[in-house]
Amino acid sequence: MSLIVMKFGGSSVGTTERMGRVAQRIIDKKLQGHKVIVVVSAMGDTTDDLIDKANEINEKPPAREMDMLLTTGEQISVALLSMAIHKLGHEAKSYTGWQAGIVTEDVHSKARISDISPDRIFNALEEGNIVIVAGFQGMTDRGEITTLGRGGSDTTAVALAAAIKADVCEIYTDVDGIYSTDPRVVKCARKLPAISYDEMLELAHLGAAVLHPRAVEYAKHYNVNLVVRSSFTNNEGTLVKEEAEMEQGVVVRGIAFDKNVARISVLGVDDTPGVLAKMFGALADNEIDVDIIVQNGVQDGKADFSFTVSSSDRARAFDVLASIKSSVPYRETTFEEDLVKVSIVGAGMVSNPGVAAKMFKAISDIGVNIIMVSTSEIKLSCVIASDPLTDVVRALHTAYGLDSSDTAFVGGPSDRR
Ligand code: ADP
Ligand code: ASP
Ligand code: MG
Repeated sequence: MSLIVMKFGGSSVGTTERMGRVAQRIIDKKLQGHKVIVVVSAMGDTTDDLIDKANEINEKPPAREMDMLLTTGEQISVALLSMAIHKLGHEAKSYTGWQAGIVTEDVHSKARISDISPDRIFNALEEGNIVIVAGFQGMTDRGEITTLGRGGSDTTAVALAAAIKADVCEIYTDVDGIYSTDPRVVKCARKLPAISYDEMLELAHLGAAVLHPRAVEYAKHYNVNLVVRSSFTNNEGTLVKEEAEMEQGVVVRGIAFDKNVARISVLGVDDTPGVLAKMFGALADNEIDVDIIVQNGVQDGKADFSFTVSSSDRARAFDVLASIKSSVPYRETTFEEDLVKVSIVGAGMVSNPGVAAKMFKAISDIGVNIIMVSTSEIKLSCVIASDPLTDVVRALHTAYGLDSSDTAFVGGPSDRR
């Protein structure tokens, strides 16, 4: 008998009919003799729809109230899924994140899990129940409801798996594994039998939505056996683990892209010690993640800086810069939106000269200008204009020898946002 965490994403439970199929799949697992804890996301586009509603009422909704609203999506799912299991003749109990003992730090909209007290779910399991936990949510020590960031149900699943020492954590989604790139964009993307935690962590951070970055972080830290597979087929999925073999001659494991990139330039900043610390310190204090930073040269004691942030943080970053203008004097700020960051990732890149040149050439061959570049040991990212992203990803996929002769499996609605 194994202890298994099964996580089902939004499109896997997008309709009541799909919910019924998921219920059957969970029961099948239990009938194989396993103890099952299920984590589930909000149905279909529920979270996006709730965000739209909030913005219709208030274009800057308070983060606390946003968390109150968005956690309802997962609460609907757990109750309905439990009902579907009961209808099929099995015992199940649903729990919110806080009932399941998930405690988070005191931050709204992207809280980290700080602790899990799983006694209640262990007791429910001992009583023979299938336990169903709402993904993406937790509660602070002060009793405030929080969410873990978009896509955060993956993190709930992996964190629970670590806390209860599950034998495996299975992430069921609408593609049948982790591919060399998003199979909705490149039909000949290749399915990876396995990928290392480090590579998946980079891909997830760089925009591959298939796993939430923190889920991979926890999996690596607690050595969780993590599998990504389809909720629509029985195909074997992808294993995420410490080390994964690379095919001979292939240096790039995958390509990711992030469509929500904005570039902010701060022009005419006093070129004196401490200005960068003040500027980026203020942004960090306001929970704004800054990505690539470039200094564009110094003239007459004044420097120009550019950096990228997520498009959704752009306006707030501007407000923060305006608020520190008296202590960090600068001439003006400008920004560009509609940028994307496209990245190649592979553990073998570090020892292979020419990988970067190949990327730059593939991009320039289709007439696209590279605006910014950043590198680390196992990744290389280029910021470019958002058009034509698809052509760029396809060209890179071919250039690094990743094209597969099979067509990727993509289930679920094609009109996903
Ligand atoms: P869920 O609702 O199940 O959590 P997500 O939309 O969060 O599903 O993640 C699955 C989606 O991730 C796929 O439909 C696919 O479009 C996208 N994706 C991006 N990069 C990859 C990749 N490298 N491999 C597989 N899927 C990817
Ligand atoms: N429902 C949340 C979202 O749409 C969390 C998740 O699906 O993982 O982001
Ligand atoms: Mg997801």
